Amino acid sequence: MSEHYYGEGRPLLSVSNLKKYFPVRKGLLRRVVANVKAVDDISFDIAPGETLGLVGESGCGKTTAGRSLLRLIKPTSGHVEFEGKDVLGASGSEMRKFRRNMQIIFQDPYASLNPRMSVNDIISEGIRVHGLADNRKDAESQVRDLLERVKLDPAYINRYPHEFSGGQRQRIGIARALSLKPKFIVCDEAVSALDVSIQAQVINLLMDLRDEFGLSYLFVAHDLSVVRHISHRVAVMYLGKIVEIAKTKDLFSNPKHPYTQALLSAVPVANPTAKKERIVLQGDVPSPMNPPSGCPFHTRCPRVMDVCKSEVPPTRTADDGHSYTCHLDE
Ligand code: SF4
Repeated sequence: MSEHYYGEGRPLLSVSNLKKYFPVRKGLLRRVVANVKAVDDISFDIAPGETLGLVGESGCGKTTAGRSLLRLIKPTSGHVEFEGKDVLGASGSEMRKFRRNMQIIFQDPYASLNPRMSVNDIISEGIRVHGLADNRKDAESQVRDLLERVKLDPAYINRYPHEFSGGQRQRIGIARALSLKPKFIVCDEAVSALDVSIQAQVINLLMDLRDEFGLSYLFVAHDLSVVRHISHRVAVMYLGKIVEIAKTKDLFSNPKHPYTQALLSAVPVANPTAKKERIVLQGDVPSPMNPPSGCPFHTRCPRVMDVCKSEVPPTRTADDGHSYTCHLDE
């Protein structure tokens, strides 16, 4: 169990030292000349019923992390356990069982639904493949029930994706993920493509479903204000690494890592008269192919010190699980 865990009992999902490097090949012989370190040694646990938010700028590795732990892409190394069982080393039939329990909702509801399939076919596909229905009629009745759960009219069952709005399509994606009665769902930027008012509705729906079915989520987003409402804890990623992880309230009220502090300074506050100094980060995110030495954030950190350029910072963890990786001892 990693030090970041704060739930009681056995975690539902345990990720240790997960890495995903993409080789860069060049020349006639396609020799590997470098690696893009998309996910670089991350560890975290998720408790039953818990939502962990995973945030960071685009390209920080959060989407790759979510897909690697589900084995949608093959991780380079690391260990993932689901209910105490090894996921990355699982055989084909073992993986089928994991697939039922570990689902994903994709960012783009336009691209992730096959335009030639009806809602009934899209949602019932997994039910039929996994033999969860006695016959076609039973599958259809399960689909109608799922449509109701995601607050779509079951009368739409024979319609096609293009007949729905973005928010409605994402509800279809959620119903598809729920169709196998999973315990864990990766929500991969699941609301990022939606208008703000629709985002709130979909987040509320995901929270209701979590409570109704006892689901756990890894909620991946680039926007801290989006994860705040739904997450019990939040992990912040930068250049493939988790730089801070804490209970949501603690992270927002007492961020320790300068990168988290900068991200939070850009989040709008409810009271516009409240003073808040915006920390503007200079420069772009460095290439994950050639990350900076020492602390990978040192090229943009407003509080950088000499030691940061040469020495990898330590990870400091408080008793309540609030953990951050920095040379500053806050
Ligand atoms: Fe900034 Fe140094 Fe901390 Fe990195 S280790 S976040 S550069 S203060």
